[in-house]
Amino acid sequence: MSRYIAKAAIRGANLIVSEAEKMLQEAIKELGPETPVVFTNTAYYLPVILGFTGIEVQTLGDLQQVIDYAKKLLHPVPGDTLWLPYLGETLDCGVATLLAEEAIEGIRFARGLQPEPIPGLQLTGTSFTSPDGNSQEEEGGFANGPIDDVQLRAWGIQLVDGRMPGFAAIVGAARSNEAAVSIVRELQQRNILVFLSGNVNGRSIIHQLMEEGVEMGYDTYIVPFGTDTISAIYALGFATRSALTFGGLSGGQARDILLYNKYRVFAFVLALGEVDDLKYATAAGALNYGFPVIADTVIPQILPTGITQYEHVISMPFDDIEGETDAEKARRLVQRCIEVRGIKVKITEVPIPVPYGSAFEGERVRRADMRIEFGGRNARAFEYLRMADFDEVEDGKITLIGPSFEDVEVGGAMNLGILVEVAGRKMQEDFEPVLERQIHYFINGASGVQHIGQRDITWIRFSKAAVEKGFQIKHLGEILYARFHADFGSIVDKVQVTLITDEELFQEWLQKAREAYQARNIRLADMTDESVDEFYSCTLCQSFAPNHVCIVSPERLGLCGAYNWLDCKASYQINPTGPNQPVPKGICLDPVYGVWQGPNEFVYQNSHGTVERVSMYSIMRDPMTACGCFECIAMVIPEANGIMVVSREDPSMTPVGMKFSTLAGIAGGGLQTPGMMGVGKYYLLSKKFISAEGGFKRVVWLSKILKETMRDELQAVCEREGVPDLLDKIADGDTATTIEELLAFLEEKGHPALTMDPIF
Ligand code: SF4
Ligand code: ZN
Repeated sequence: MSRYIAKAAIRGANLIVSEAEKMLQEAIKELGPETPVVFTNTAYYLPVILGFTGIEVQTLGDLQQVIDYAKKLLHPVPGDTLWLPYLGETLDCGVATLLAEEAIEGIRFARGLQPEPIPGLQLTGTSFTSPDGNSQEEEGGFANGPIDDVQLRAWGIQLVDGRMPGFAAIVGAARSNEAAVSIVRELQQRNILVFLSGNVNGRSIIHQLMEEGVEMGYDTYIVPFGTDTISAIYALGFATRSALTFGGLSGGQARDILLYNKYRVFAFVLALGEVDDLKYATAAGALNYGFPVIADTVIPQILPTGITQYEHVISMPFDDIEGETDAEKARRLVQRCIEVRGIKVKITEVPIPVPYGSAFEGERVRRADMRIEFGGRNARAFEYLRMADFDEVEDGKITLIGPSFEDVEVGGAMNLGILVEVAGRKMQEDFEPVLERQIHYFINGASGVQHIGQRDITWIRFSKAAVEKGFQIKHLGEILYARFHADFGSIVDKVQVTLITDEELFQEWLQKAREAYQARNIRLADMTDESVDEFYSCTLCQSFAPNHVCIVSPERLGLCGAYNWLDCKASYQINPTGPNQPVPKGICLDPVYGVWQGPNEFVYQNSHGTVERVSMYSIMRDPMTACGCFECIAMVIPEANGIMVVSREDPSMTPVGMKFSTLAGIAGGGLQTPGMMGVGKYYLLSKKFISAEGGFKRVVWLSKILKETMRDELQAVCEREGVPDLLDKIADGDTATTIEELLAFLEEKGHPALTMDPIF
């Protein structure tokens, strides 16, 4: 342990704790102890404090016990002689620092000073866009502040399946703007979340990225917390909530939360520029989580001891890093961070002239920045993937048939057909739609390229910047070729891509594609739970929710919406020992509730004995468990003799007095909760949707966004269920936000649930 670091951290901790105490006393005097303290959109109070102490802070008054707790953890600043630096004391002071920092942010929230105003900062993609368009994007001018629960869970699936390997908490300012951009681009290309905070002499990496026009926000995986060191606490709040949300832990289980992070959350702190006492103290806090600290300045190092496998504190002075340019040095710096933390990054080299990685998936290409679009209002684009015979496919062949876009005016549109032909010994026709759906993600990974939609409503935009860097239509083929081989190599041996702009050929293939889509629709619609002998399991989320198992059947997809029965089947072919295993149905124990011997046994074993039975078609009796990444929450409303379905994208209040984010805290965690269930939104359309309780007719309240985005499909369900005007009888956030309003609405409309058998 370095004496220098220990002293600085202990000094920093003492200072910030007394600062927090002073601020609290002032705030209580001015505003009163009952003044609420709330972080936005989280059910976890002040999460770091909750995690370490179990205290559910709700008011300024509640913070006093937190400060008292922090003070107990402090140690006196050691003298210069006869003092042996001890890691434990430094780590304790680190915890005290984190508690004080979160308390300070809580006080700032109480005073309306958070999120921090940063003039000119525009965030892309908040976690939801409310239907009235009143999202943070339009408002702008503020740092993100703490990440909300909805976003945490939305990232959950990527965190668990490894697409998102971890996060980098960057504190300070880079050597130059060039270095700043290079650092975040390197991290983005590896799909590592980037959290930004802190400054050096008033200048923050957030300012640097703003100056360089780098898009920040949830969609691009770059989250600016604030320009002071204290706001770095939000990164640790995110880490704590990961453990609480996905690890099934509770507030106060400090040791387990820290261990969870050490082994499952791959994160590190990158300190850019001079490190002061407060930064040392905060870094000491992060060390408790097992997050190493890498600095680009000269500081004493803390190297591996017997207990830890990796270095704690690493100094990599920017000037000493090899490289001609700051960008190159920055790349090496990021490389070293990844080595130190041992993050496993799977990157696929895609030979295109723009940066590539999932972090670019959320990037938008605005009309003003657009060089050309395919599809959209003024043209049509389609994508069609089909299986072909081995000798029909020439691996790696990428052809453009027809003109490129040189002759189309800037901002113009043209037709484009994307035909992907694949061959492979393990390929099956059933996998065509599974693979075809990947085209969206694959193409979107290119920086400056936007892909929306699928099938014949595909809509692709190239930005001017991407085209200036040399991006051409044929690069779409390069992307698809590289990614299909990399991600689906075990079922696909040969890949050939044909890009069609020639009008006659375009029309011809559009026709063929439409016939294929139609045939697939029919085949899928015909597939029922009765028509197959086995379901599939999904245990992907167990890395975060250790006892959760999804059973996926043809008529019930996984609750995250990402895996249906065919996806699981394909995934099993790709990786026979992976998270999707066939589950033979075995003896049917109850056809109405959807209970089979096979799934019961599988779930019992794979939930480690915590879940004994699962009903596929019921919310009331042995419902399926939920991890945390559900698209919707279904919940019984006893007074209405029905259920409500709340979408993750719905920020509004529900009749039970809780919003999605609060409900999610109750529904998740891998426990069976009768009356409550996480579901994928397409399950709503299934004939087996809570069929044991009467099916879709039980829905008395439905998030408006679902009503709007799935109107046609839901209408078809209402007709199938024999109540064609049912959709109008179902309340939503506009018509009912309390039980009383809901009941009045249902009475007035004559909702069928009111006269159905009692749900209990
Ligand atoms: Fe997780 Fe279930 Fe989705 Fe699998 S299907 S990723 S277990 S939520
Ligand atoms: Zn999950």
